Order: sequence, then C-alpha cells, then structure tokens
Amino acid sequence: MDYSLVLRNGHVIDPSQGINRRMDLAVQAGRIAALGAELGPGLVEKDLQGKYVCPGLIDLHGHWWEGSSWGIDPDLCLNHGVTTAVDAGTTGFINFPAFRKTQVSAATVRVLAFVNISGIGIPTTLVGELEDIRFARPVETGLVLAGNRDICLGVKLREGSMTGSHGKEALDKAIEAATFAGLPLMVHITKGAHTRHILRSLRPGDIVTHCFQGRGDGILSAVDGCLLPEVCEARRQDVLFDVGHGAGAFSWDVARRAFEFFFYPDTISTDLHRFSIARWAFDLPSVMSKFLHLGMPLEDVILKTTWAPAKAIGRGDELGTLKTGAIADLFVFELEEGSFALEDTHLRVETASRRIKPLLTIKAGVSIEPGTYPVRLRNLYACDDDLFRFIEETAEPQRPSQ
Ligand SMILES: [Zn+2]
Repeated sequence: MDYSLVLRNGHVIDPSQGINRRMDLAVQAGRIAALGAELGPGLVEKDLQGKYVCPGLIDLHGHWWEGSSWGIDPDLCLNHGVTTAVDAGTTGFINFPAFRKTQVSAATVRVLAFVNISGIGIPTTLVGELEDIRFARPVETGLVLAGNRDICLGVKLREGSMTGSHGKEALDKAIEAATFAGLPLMVHITKGAHTRHILRSLRPGDIVTHCFQGRGDGILSAVDGCLLPEVCEARRQDVLFDVGHGAGAFSWDVARRAFEFFFYPDTISTDLHRFSIARWAFDLPSVMSKFLHLGMPLEDVILKTTWAPAKAIGRGDELGTLKTGAIADLFVFELEEGSFALEDTHLRVETASRRIKPLLTIKAGVSIEPGTYPVRLRNLYACDDDLFRFIEETAEPQRPSQ
C-alpha cells in the first residue's frame, strides 16, 4: 500500500529519538508511518534535499482569545510551523466556555489552554486582572479544568503590577486550583512579582514564564547579577523555565548572563499577542533564531520547541515527536544565511547571520503553505498606544558596541 505522503532526503531533527541526520519520512492516515532510507512509494512525494524537517512546533505561551484586547487569531501559527498553540490564560472560568466554543473549536491549528485563576482572564491592558483579588477563584477554576481535560493543561497566574498588593494570596489560590485539578501552574514573573517566594512555592512540573525578562524581579539577583539561589533550587525540583518573549520579556543581557551560569530555558515560546506581534516576537521561528544567535545548537532549539513543551503539557506520547504512530505534525524549514536585525524588548538590536525560514507546515498529515492564513489583527485604539509608549520610555539606550 502506498503511503499518503513521503518526504525524501530531508535533514530530520527529532530530539525525542536522538535523530539528527538525512532520511525519508512517511505519513499514513495523519500519523507518522516510518522513518528510514528509501521509503515509499507515496501518493504525494516531496524532495527536501538541503532542507530540515522536525516535529510540528509547540508554542507554549501565546494569547489566542480574540475576545480579549490581547488576543490574536491562533491560525496565524500555521504560517510558521506551529501546529499546537497553547493559550497562556487569556480566559478564566467566566469566558473560557465562549473561548472554547468560538475560537478553539473553530481553529485549524490545535489550541490547548491554561485557565487563568482570575475569572475574567486577561481582558485588557487597562486594569490588572487581579488588582481586585475577588476575581481569583480556585474552586470555579478547578471545575473548568476538570470539565475540559481534553484541552485544558493547567492554571495560569500573572504576578506583577496586575496582582496589585495581592501577589502572595493570588499564588496560594492558583496553587490550590492546580492541586485540586492535579495539573501544573504557569506563573508569569514581571516587575513587582515576589519571585523568590514564588520559586520556593512551586511544585515539580510547574512553569515559570518570562525567565529572561529584564524589567526587575527576574531570575538574576539585583545585588550581584548572579542567578538567584531559588532559581537553581527550583530547577533541581523540576520546575520548568519558559521564555515567553512577548513585548516586554526578553533581554539579550539577561539571557547572556544566565547562559554564563549554564542556565538555559526549558522551553522557548513567543508570548504572541496583539502587541508583541507588532514589533518583537513576530512568530516562533523568529524567537528560535534569537537563541541560535545566542549560541544554542539547532538541535537544542528544536528540542525546546517540540519534545520539551510536549512533555511539559503531558502530551509527549503523540506531540512533539516523530515516533511511529505519533500525529503527523511537521515543520519544514531552511537555515537562511545573511544579515538579520533581531530586537529584544529593551529595543536593543543585534545582527544575526542565520535565521529559521519556514517552508511548509504539516498538521496531522495535511500540508499548509506559509502565508495561507492571512494576518487579521484587530485595529489599535489610542489606549493601546500607551503600552507601546511605555516600552519606548522605559527602554535603556542602545549600547554603541552592538
Ligand atoms: Zn503572556
């Protein structure tokens, strides 16, 4: 019997099996059917000589609920190799049902979700979702998680100005909900977060996102610039550290300093939303290219956008892997050589010599050409401009050496 699709001569990178070499890959009935030499025949065959093939990318942190002023259409992900888009708590127990009905179910890309401990999720930039702690609802959040186990992954909490003076109480309630559901907690840390307390409180499998943010209360000591001891201890306890680039959470300096301590992210994600997509994060291959520029090997960058996030969300048996029988989600790309300006969220631009260029996305065996899903971003209002202005005003000046 012919395979439905055979990809020939591609350089296959699948960290879940330690594969990093040229071979053929065959797909049948939307699943990985075989990896090896001279497979075939296939009803459709593609020659990928000189190109790379890896599992479909998993973006562990984005905002995919267009009922929020942060949200964008998750199908944009299919333009750049992401076949699983994880929503990082854009909705809470109040608006999750509408998110599921109108956005998750309507999407072509696979959408999974963390549910915000705040019942209103993250609706706006104007007021923090937990400035009023009455919005933190562990029981209702736990019930949503229990009733939607097919797509719900855990609890989300943003710690910083959005929790006002309630950071520790909000953390307690988020852990209560996650414990009730038996699922992980993802905590966003920005300036104002009780980061050391958070790190001491998290459980194995919980996720810290925005690990390389440079706005304050991050993973580095404000005193000596060393990694906080709580960061090292949390990693020993199997707490995971995610990039969550966003519009304010990626600093070249913080990432480089962390690398000096051999501290690398567990997962690389965009934190794509209406604001970050306008200038900083763009798409997951762009963020991955920044980590290539920082010196991470390509295989590691692929690991942290496929197998590592798949395991973090408990889906490692069928996503983020090219094992026989896994869902045939694939990303075909090339490494483009040239001169590419890459900007962090402190408006510092570095020039990279390589970037990951998407060539083809395959979702459950179906091929999707880049650009097939048009960008449909909502209009910006005057109040939205305040966020961009804040980023401009709080950025350090560009250093002359870069
Ligand atoms: Zn986010």
